[in-house]
Amino acid sequence: MSKTRITVIPGDGIGPSIIDSAIQILQHAGCDFDYDYADAGLVALEKHGELLPQATLDLIERNKVSLKGPLTTPVGGGFTSINVSLRKKFNLYANVRPVISFNGTKSRYENIDIITVRENTEGMYSGAGQKRSDDNNSAEAMSIITREGAERIATFAFELAKNEGRKKVTVVHKANILKSTSGLFLEVARQVAARYPEIQCEEMIVDAACMNLVMYPERFDVMVTTNLFGDILSDLCAGLVGGLGMAPGANIGSGAAIFEAVHGSAPDIAGKNIANPTSVILASVQMLEYLGMQEKAERILGAVRATIEAGEHVTRDLGGSASTDEFTQAVIARL
Ligand code: NAD
Repeated sequence: MSKTRITVIPGDGIGPSIIDSAIQILQHAGCDFDYDYADAGLVALEKHGELLPQATLDLIERNKVSLKGPLTTPVGGGFTSINVSLRKKFNLYANVRPVISFNGTKSRYENIDIITVRENTEGMYSGAGQKRSDDNNSAEAMSIITREGAERIATFAFELAKNEGRKKVTVVHKANILKSTSGLFLEVARQVAARYPEIQCEEMIVDAACMNLVMYPERFDVMVTTNLFGDILSDLCAGLVGGLGMAPGANIGSGAAIFEAVHGSAPDIAGKNIANPTSVILASVQMLEYLGMQEKAERILGAVRATIEAGEHVTRDLGGSASTDEFTQAVIARL
């Protein structure tokens, strides 16, 4: 049988170093993949004159599974976000962002275990918008919600809850004000929830959800929401478990999946060998689960957990002084 081929996009800033860490760990855990490396982001602009070369798109399409570092989209100059383009191009409609507490992190809570399921292709990130006057004093952006898009993301969230034995799905919305868009999302989510009587469905307005997440995070299990709210809430959740260095994300569609860290390219710490690679290592754990390689996923998760709990080789964001390489080697030693 031929080996599974993974498209690896190291990306910009801290991307190459944290992706290298994740690949070393996958190899030491005995994952027998073939890797095809591809460029995207600033590094691709410099090498190939475009942010998202066709060769990269072809590899994502061919291998179906990708592990990706963060990408820098240049500000201004008419560049659309590369991440938004990738999500749309491959119809990666579900963005699954789990956060779990690890002993040894300096976070305010213990025992957090929340999955945010964010709609990834519609809402305020539909890309439709324009200036309303030539003097640049007025602008508008269009939020698009479709019944089909709301139905498939709500179904994804309830199926995930069912398959993972979770008890509750919280639908986060702003239907009291955004009556047409958020209202449609909520209406469809209620219809989907009715098909899963064994799972509790809770509805929460996004502002109340922010406060409740900070005060009572243990009340949350799975959250499902629209694109912009999901983007913001998942960073809030990362803050509950020790910061962006701890937060992975999976972009899943019907034909392809891209696994990545939630955070960006962190230009302020790039090239210093101090970034925390945990986020992208946990993204590779999500990738293994997606590929049905549960045992390997648990082995890597266990090694990361033990390394952070021991506390001797953790990076600065977790209160230690280890480099990215030292943390990686400590995880490998525990595999
Ligand atoms: P960022 O997430 O890159 O950084 C925010 C802060 O968190 C910084 O202080 C950074 O040092 C810290 N941080 C992030 N990841 C860390 C890690 N692994 N270990 C330790 N500290 C870490 O956000 P930003 O600075 O606003 O964005 C930088 C660039 O990244 C922008 O060009 C943005 O468009 C891009 N971006 C890309 C993605 C993606 O590719 N998925 C996501 C978000 C932002």
